Amino acid sequence: MSSENKLVNTNYHTHMYLCRHAKGTTEDYVLQAINYGFKQIGMSDHAPWKELALRSERMYLKDYQKYLQGLAEVKKKYSDQIKIDTGLEIEYFKFKDKYYQDFLKDVDYLVLGQHYIEMNGKLRSIYKIKTLEELTVYKDTIIEAINTGYFKFIAHPDIFLFQQKELSKEVLDLCEEIIIAAKEKNIPLEINANGIRKGSFTIDGELRYRYPREEFFELVRKHDATCLISSDAHKPELLYDEAVEIAVKFSRRLKLRVVEELSLDS
Ligand SMILES: [Zn+2]
Ligand SMILES: [Zn+2]
Repeated sequence: MSSENKLVNTNYHTHMYLCRHAKGTTEDYVLQAINYGFKQIGMSDHAPWKELALRSERMYLKDYQKYLQGLAEVKKKYSDQIKIDTGLEIEYFKFKDKYYQDFLKDVDYLVLGQHYIEMNGKLRSIYKIKTLEELTVYKDTIIEAINTGYFKFIAHPDIFLFQQKELSKEVLDLCEEIIIAAKEKNIPLEINANGIRKGSFTIDGELRYRYPREEFFELVRKHDATCLISSDAHKPELLYDEAVEIAVKFSRRLKLRVVEELSLDS
């Protein structure tokens, strides 16, 4: 099958069974990507992280080598058919530089996927935060992460708006600060198709996804920052589906500057 009818032919945000909430092996995803006519696939399963082990389904540390080994094997087997990169999706927390530096010795890239923020020594889920104070901590965390240079792109940067219906001026200002920081370091902001799969709501009769949030990406357009479209696939067939097509159409309608290929070789 060729990629003729496909609106994308790369994906850099891809999970697999070792995170314990996705289906399929790395090989299953690579074969599916070849079948869809993709020219590049990056695997970015959720990194093992001790502090999150009890509250989130993540890769066990004991499986990490298995993950790397699986990637080394598919690279050997399929590199003549598709370019394959080894990545990890991971949160950013202060004072953990060694973790990121160590992961970067093993993998081609890290994706920032901030599902928790830390406040007063405690973690709060990004799906639950509501107050301006919490949203500000998210913004500060993302900007600090951007400035470390560890991350190749920001997964669902707008996910912190999950509980927000109308966006106040203060909240839009936080969005804008994130966008300006990303633009300065030339780090793409992801348009995440998995948010589209999670459904939508309406504001004054207008359809809104929880993410990608239109108001956020209007500001991305205003600053001419770059975007990246990702499936965030947790099943092989979702590497390309209706949600990915909607994400592409969303980017076109908002006239966003989309990066289609990342160069990830270190
Ligand atoms: Zn996941
Ligand atoms: Zn993900």
